[in-house]
Amino acid sequence: MSRFFYRALASKRIAALMNIMVGHYATIYMIHRPRPRDGAYEGVSPELLEECIVYAKAAGFEFASIDEVIEKARNKQKPDRPTLCFTLDDGYEDQLEQLVPILLKHQCKPTLFTIVDMVDGIDWPWDSKISAAVWNTPQKQLAFDFNNHAFALDFSEPHARRASRRQLTRFGKSLPAAQLEQYVTALLSALDVEPHGPAPAEYKPSTWDSLRKAEQAGLRIGSHACSHRVFAALSDAQIQQELQRAQAVLARELVNPSRVFCYPSGTLNDFSLHHTQLVKDTQFFIGAVTSMPGNISQQQIAQQPFLVKRHSFPASFDKFVRYSSWLEYIRSRI
Ligand SMILES: [Zn+2]
Repeated sequence: MSRFFYRALASKRIAALMNIMVGHYATIYMIHRPRPRDGAYEGVSPELLEECIVYAKAAGFEFASIDEVIEKARNKQKPDRPTLCFTLDDGYEDQLEQLVPILLKHQCKPTLFTIVDMVDGIDWPWDSKISAAVWNTPQKQLAFDFNNHAFALDFSEPHARRASRRQLTRFGKSLPAAQLEQYVTALLSALDVEPHGPAPAEYKPSTWDSLRKAEQAGLRIGSHACSHRVFAALSDAQIQQELQRAQAVLARELVNPSRVFCYPSGTLNDFSLHHTQLVKDTQFFIGAVTSMPGNISQQQIAQQPFLVKRHSFPASFDKFVRYSSWLEYIRSRI
């Protein structure tokens, strides 16, 4: 559909009216890293982020934190205007340096979900180790074998590297915790990358000090568990341990951690309804966000607060206009 059509439909008056007519929808954005210099992943451009926020303000959207979105839905408080919500996942230093300041400057009430063991310096996440190794390996091709699973990997150009990374990460998600560690170590050795080395500069985690400063400036910080291992590959006891330990560390380091949880990876195959119950059982969390795409209504959030959908922040302004519109909400429901 044409950009003009979408922008006309997203006009202040129509959007406010449709917010009431279609049942008070929210667009919740999930933001990962700013755009890297070397093209290792797509990333969000800070300039585009600001352009989108300036548009959203002029178009009359209301910004709410993820805690507010879920609280309002649960209390059946209906916002007058369509709601936008910004969340960031993982907790790398470049997110705090390049993206969070823009969100705070425009009072967007952002929330950052941190991988607690990464910030604590215990370990950096297994999937980031794979990403960094795939990007930095001197190899061009590799036949790699793990547990009778054979990979024919290609690193000859950026597109092939990204495809190889996706394949390797998908397989890693299917492994139980103990095997995952063996897999990552074997893979990194095969890629000629030091398996137990420190995180390279482009994966520098934030620190509790910088997170505390950001918290004082208005950033809400929440739990993305400890290790970034997907729940589908963990036992209940391991999940409970990750949830409790992450929460204890956040409570120790911060003033007011978010009461919303963010599932590691968070796509349809990474966790189940049973896992949503484990998060609920902590009795600390009021809800949880996934990486399943789509706009969502207050009613849907109130019914399933531990299964909240988010849109990945798009790579273009026109897509942002589209994702934020009530029309996309209707599309999400079809
Ligand atoms: Zn994550």
